[in-house]
Amino acid sequence: MLEAMCSAPLGDDVFGDDPTVTRLEELAAESLGKEAAIFVPSGTMGNSIAVGTHCSPGDEVIFESLCHTYNFECAGAARLWGVQAVSIAGDRGVIPLDSIAAAIRPEDVHMARTKLVILEQTSNIAGGCILPLDYLEAVASLCRERGLRLHIDGARIFNASVASGVEVSSFAACADSVMFCLSKGLGAPAGSVLAGTAETIAEARRLRKLLGGGLRQAGVLAACGIYALGHNIERLGEDHRRAAELAVKLKELNLAGLRISSPDTNMVFLGWDGEDPDRYTEFSNRLRSEGLLVVGLSGRGVRIVFHKDADDDAAVRAAGILSRNLTELFS
Ligand SMILES: *Cc1c(COP(=O)(O)O)cnc(C)c1O
Repeated sequence: MLEAMCSAPLGDDVFGDDPTVTRLEELAAESLGKEAAIFVPSGTMGNSIAVGTHCSPGDEVIFESLCHTYNFECAGAARLWGVQAVSIAGDRGVIPLDSIAAAIRPEDVHMARTKLVILEQTSNIAGGCILPLDYLEAVASLCRERGLRLHIDGARIFNASVASGVEVSSFAACADSVMFCLSKGLGAPAGSVLAGTAETIAEARRLRKLLGGGLRQAGVLAACGIYALGHNIERLGEDHRRAAELAVKLKELNLAGLRISSPDTNMVFLGWDGEDPDRYTEFSNRLRSEGLLVVGLSGRGVRIVFHKDADDDAAVRAAGILSRNLTELFS
């Protein structure tokens, strides 16, 4: 990846003439089966631009209540685009179809226009869960029928594809736009891609500039993305295997009261009952002091993520540190 970065031909992507960025955008559009794609500095910017392209001020967006766009993007939909959010609780990232249908507003001068549904593949905070293809197809057809757009926050769509055997393009075919991150499991240092129709992506170029996301010799980053798409997709399966193995090991501890997720992909979530919402942060700080970096989500659980730089050795060490600390905690 470093070599690809150092040898990439560069230009000025603000003028649209960085050949490496253009090549990444073409590759990404092709692998998602979309007309066009745009390189963006972050997933947050990609999602935000998607909302901006699909919605006008006063429109309403339906989110799954745990999703990143609703919870972790500084209320960007409201702040940047004047869009109102409706969040609906899901199960493993899935909002029941009839709840989506019920939330779509009728044409009425008093009301916001429901314009967009956003779903996350995989659903991060729900547990790295895969949204089934037939569910996405059903949401897509509901959206089409009712004149709504569908955006997939596919930060980890390649994890979903590798774990389920469903082509990313099949997932992407359900949506009007798809964002995916190069900087998560795919292992690039920075960058995401937003894909959609040529018209959507043309507007996205304007909004990217508005947000300050037009980068000049961005080919140094895009080269990493091209490398990642060529070399780091199939290996996501190793992350999934390690997550599954860790969940099995922790279940074998037989600690009464400890909840352990059954991972679909590269994440294991732990939880236990207690009054203190900060208990997960405290536990993650304890692990951090032993060199194991996990995320404690206040009131929700502890998230353990496997990635390219955590090999089998690291997985064994992580299991040891977790087993010891959990056994102490529950003794
Ligand atoms: C990380 C992530 C994002 C945002 O990506 P950044 O590059 O961190 O801005 C969006 N959605 C999901 C589900 C993510 O996990």
